[in-house]
Amino acid sequence: MARTEGDSWDINESVGATALGVAAGRAAETNSENPLIRDPYAQMFLEAAGDGLWNMYLRSEELPAELAELDPHFKERMQAMMGYTASRTLFFDEFFTDAAAGGIRQSVILAAGLDARAWRLDWPAGSVVYEIDQPKVLDFKFATLEARGVSPLATYVGVPIDLRNDWPAALRAAGFDPTAPTAWSAEGLLPYLTAEAQDVLFERITELSAPGSRVAVEAFSNEFFSAESFARREEQMQRYREAAAKLGREDVAASGNLLYEEERTEVVDWLEAHGWQATGVSAVDLLARNGRSMPEGLDDGIPESVFVDGRLS
Ligand code: SAM
Repeated sequence: MARTEGDSWDINESVGATALGVAAGRAAETNSENPLIRDPYAQMFLEAAGDGLWNMYLRSEELPAELAELDPHFKERMQAMMGYTASRTLFFDEFFTDAAAGGIRQSVILAAGLDARAWRLDWPAGSVVYEIDQPKVLDFKFATLEARGVSPLATYVGVPIDLRNDWPAALRAAGFDPTAPTAWSAEGLLPYLTAEAQDVLFERITELSAPGSRVAVEAFSNEFFSAESFARREEQMQRYREAAAKLGREDVAASGNLLYEEERTEVVDWLEAHGWQATGVSAVDLLARNGRSMPEGLDDGIPESVFVDGRLS
């Protein structure tokens, strides 16, 4: 199940299921004692999607013994990833709130997955939120919320298309105005694109951005794509595949790497070279800022990523 050029997916398979994994992290955070963020819709998506490995975050108290045997730090890793997901969600929530406070009324959420910001943030009147993701992912999200009577709090426009295709044309056809400043986000997306597709993505964002636009990105550093980091991830994945096989989850056991493990231009450097002013904060610093430092004895519990804020004057 390795990636291929024109691959597509439903919500519960391949790259689509990663959106459920993130939703599970947000649901667990929302249900926790001192949540950094609140996303009441995350749990709805999980219930609608049925049972799957993505629900593991919600069951950290009853983890299968096989997992603890294969990785004694499994619970700490889940705790670290929950802090990561919560901090990342807060970073993008604050980005959109701040962009709106600065007068931006047009937002584009790239690879929206089960991001429910159009339904849960306090958007000023006149705000339009465009969401791009694969058709079945957006269908699942919209249908789930609609069936439960949840309405968006801004004008919502879904743009169902693969980000490797001509999404700028689809976005314009859906009503996007390239002469108005835009707030863009790319959260949980870049490693699912090749290095080349990542460059094309930022070229297109830049072409569509009027002065005053902003972009927020979860960028993966070249440390993340280094041979050492890749080997660590593969070893980890192999252990989980073994556990999945023991638990009778052949689908997970057979799953390949969904990421394109290729070094790529650092996003802050790319943006700076193309007219943007950009700053980045490392994941470690972002978590520390939110009081979510890595559990004791774990130094590789979160991805080596950088959260980028870019502005075009
Ligand atoms: N941004 C959301 C969040 O943080 O909750 C979802 C992140 S999830 C890890 C990855 C998402 O990227 C999935 O919803 C997947 O469908 C989407 N995605 C990945 N590659 C894509 C592509 N080429 N075209 C459209 N969507 C893509």
